[in-house]
Amino acid sequence: MGDFGLELNDDQKGVRDWVHGFAADVMRPAAAEWDEREETPWPVIQEAAKIGLYSMDFYAQAFFDPTGLGIPVAMEELFWGDAGIGLSIVGTTLAAVGVLANGTEEQIGTWVPQMFGTADDVKVAAFCSSEPDAGSDVSAMRTRAVYDEAKDEWVLNGTKTWATNGGIANVHVVVAVVDSELGARGQASFIVPPGTPGLSQGQKFKKHGIRASHTAEVVLGQVRVPGSCLLGGKEKLEERLARAREKQRAGGERIKNAAMATFEASRPAVGAQAVGIARAAYEVALDYAKTRVQFGRPIIDNQGVAFTLADMRTRIDAARLLVWRASWMATAGKPFTAAEGSMSKLYAGETAKWVTASAMQILGGNGFTREYPVERMHRDAAIYTIFEGTSEIQRLVIARTISGLPIR
Ligand SMILES: Cc1cc2nc3c(=O)[nH]c(=O)nc-3n(C[C@H](O)[C@H](O)[C@H](O)COP(=O)(O)OP(=O)(O)OC[C@H]3O[C@@H](n4cnc5c(N)ncnc54)[C@H](O)[C@@H]3O)c2cc1C
Repeated sequence: MGDFGLELNDDQKGVRDWVHGFAADVMRPAAAEWDEREETPWPVIQEAAKIGLYSMDFYAQAFFDPTGLGIPVAMEELFWGDAGIGLSIVGTTLAAVGVLANGTEEQIGTWVPQMFGTADDVKVAAFCSSEPDAGSDVSAMRTRAVYDEAKDEWVLNGTKTWATNGGIANVHVVVAVVDSELGARGQASFIVPPGTPGLSQGQKFKKHGIRASHTAEVVLGQVRVPGSCLLGGKEKLEERLARAREKQRAGGERIKNAAMATFEASRPAVGAQAVGIARAAYEVALDYAKTRVQFGRPIIDNQGVAFTLADMRTRIDAARLLVWRASWMATAGKPFTAAEGSMSKLYAGETAKWVTASAMQILGGNGFTREYPVERMHRDAAIYTIFEGTSEIQRLVIARTISGLPIR
């Protein structure tokens, strides 16, 4: 019969076990400390760089796995280790993907290596899109990029917020408005090279979870970058703006374009991170339920506890299947006719939140203390219904895609 199967091949199992080893041996023992310190865990990133786990090559290899499962398998293991440290390790890829998706070969070759640095001198990168008044609604963005033809430079002004690695990054990728008449279609992405005057870190946020990951405002005041820092180049931008103006004139503009497809393709990776957190909390809860004795028997002997664990495991497996399906679709070039990428992120994010809350409940008082890791996992999981598109926005995308209607 057919070839269908969900078993990982030997290469994938090798990568999974390698990343798992790092997560178990290096990340887990460091997780509580960096959560308390609320600082970027540079020594752990450096350890990851030394073994090649924090490197452009590793992500490129995982990305080009022909089944699409390379990235989700690695993400699940990393975030099983710890989400705060995990985000510090993969935060750079957000910016790198911005360059890979929109940059020329020369831009990719110049800037992506500088985002990672070297094993002896690790660097991070930041992707700056969100603003105080433009979160879910990216079309409300105010940061402007104006071209100074005489100097062949772009001048950026504005304030970005919630930027992972914002202000501590070697390279910042900044999304800015170049034509305010065109809404989200009038935006472009720019590289801000290391040490560029005018870029500064604003407030660093104290957060509920993923506290080992640095999140801050980025202030751009008369930031001048060379013309070559416009991702994709000026010619391509002019062509894109001309097409957008044409569409606007024709009326009935709907953003159902390449940007949408990019989001659908990248969301499963975020879903895989949520699956990793959920699995970690479920494993702690399962062990605990088998050993904690009340009323003369392990608490798992009660259906109320055992059924919760059964539901936890079922939801985790369902989330992983949605993530794998969407990752496979992205790699195979299948059209996301039901917003399957958004589905995977929505379901995995909500699952992580529910599973980690359930794990806390199973651990009783211990679950509520920092003696056990599940309260941290619960705090970390909460971001997965908020960033990379909130759960409501995922539902909006799915609803619009399945109905074909401009649902608000
Ligand atoms: C820790 C952290 C790291 C982040 N990292 C980055 C980063 O590296 N780079 C970056 O650019 N951004 C980053 N973000 C920003 C993140 O993507 C935004 O927080 C997110 O998109 C939501 O925007 P908002 O916070 O402004 O919420 P809002 O958009 O103000 O939403 C508030 C609430 O209203 C709901 N809502 C809004 N519109 C609708 C609607 N049409 N229908 C139904 N409900 C709606 C939302 O779902 C949400 O519940 C990060 C955020 C955090 C907290």
